Amino acid sequence: MLTSTVKASQCARCGRILRSKKAMEDGMGRVCKSKAAVEKAKSEEK
Ligand SMILES: [Zn+2]
Repeated sequence: MLTSTVKASQCARCGRILRSKKAMEDGMGRVCKSKAAVEKAKSEEK
């Protein structure tokens, strides 16, 4: 079975090793993901 989903083993933001399946699917840790969401919202404000 082929999968197109590339699972990252490191956080895209801080480079830490991801340990949870969810974090790997997101490509970044939970904390970094929330920070990224805040930054995205701020960038859209301007
Ligand atoms: Zn991170």
